[in-house]
Amino acid sequence: MNFLSFVKPGVLSGKDMHKLFNFAKKKKIALPAINCIDTNSINSILEAAKKFNTIVIIQFSFSGSSFFIGNNVFKKKKIQSAIYGAILGAKYIHEASIYYKVPVILHTDHCTKDYLLWLDGLLNYSKDFYNNYGKPLFSSHMIDLSKCKIKDNLDICCYYLNKFKKLNINLEMELGCTGGEEDGLDNSLISRKYLYTSPKDVLYAYKRLIKISKIFTIAASFGNVHGVYKSENIFLLPDILLNSQKLVSETFSMKIKNPLNFVFHGGSGCEEKIIRKSISYGVIKINLDTDIQWSSWKGVLNYYLINKNYLSSQLGNPNGKDKPNKKFYDPRVWLRNSQKYIIKYLSKIFKILNCLNLLKN
Ligand SMILES: [Zn+2]
Repeated sequence: MNFLSFVKPGVLSGKDMHKLFNFAKKKKIALPAINCIDTNSINSILEAAKKFNTIVIIQFSFSGSSFFIGNNVFKKKKIQSAIYGAILGAKYIHEASIYYKVPVILHTDHCTKDYLLWLDGLLNYSKDFYNNYGKPLFSSHMIDLSKCKIKDNLDICCYYLNKFKKLNINLEMELGCTGGEEDGLDNSLISRKYLYTSPKDVLYAYKRLIKISKIFTIAASFGNVHGVYKSENIFLLPDILLNSQKLVSETFSMKIKNPLNFVFHGGSGCEEKIIRKSISYGVIKINLDTDIQWSSWKGVLNYYLINKNYLSSQLGNPNGKDKPNKKFYDPRVWLRNSQKYIIKYLSKIFKILNCLNLLKN
């Protein structure tokens, strides 16, 4: 299959994203999903995708969206900030990805029950966007009702999937909880048993969602945790994914081996062999927020450590007490180092996920 026939530079729609995921699954490829908070982080991801001829998933969390527009712009109206921040960020990516000539899947991360108004606001905007441009503002949205009863989770997900279908948007739904803490979503004290999804729940979700649309992905937890911790504290059981695939496939007498498209949350710090195994069980999207944050910071830290003597005062460095240091503290210089570290980290990840040079004929 020629990728470029449907994967063009710019933001992909839900349907094209699914074609891509189905192809990736067959070839045992996954794509990294990176949380961005500003144009600086977005540009690093686009630059990495361009340099290594691949496709990336850029996502905004609720608070990352607010940060994009500025946390104080609407005072205490958190939902409003997150709506307009995500819209601005998305519009930037729609334009910038064309200039970079990079295909992008654009996604919003964990939307809990408290944040459904955020999603409603984005969908309202997306309707106009779709009417004007023939594609949605976001390729995909995640709904995270993992703390609700499964029936309630699916009732709400089905309600939204009906809306998404009209706008050609993918639904990512969460089953079972992701542990740890990320962006205000704190599951660090949750009982371990909630971190493992039952394949029966996956089957139940599949049965209900497939009646509406096939454009959905499932973030089924198998011990996943947000953040990086000592490896002995994490017990990942990717066989849960394999067993879920088998159950769905057998129940519906399917010929294909891995009918489901899975999302791996908390991919940062995970062993390569677990990542590879999960990809062979149908994972096509891996979220890597924490490792990207660390790379970004490491770039700034190393820049500081190397240039320490030029960064403590405006005037005066080892070359003379009146020598100016402007060239060293210019934010473009140290932010660029941060970008370089992100790009370097992504080059390693693209290799692990088997998505290097996807767009090279
Ligand atoms: Zn997550």
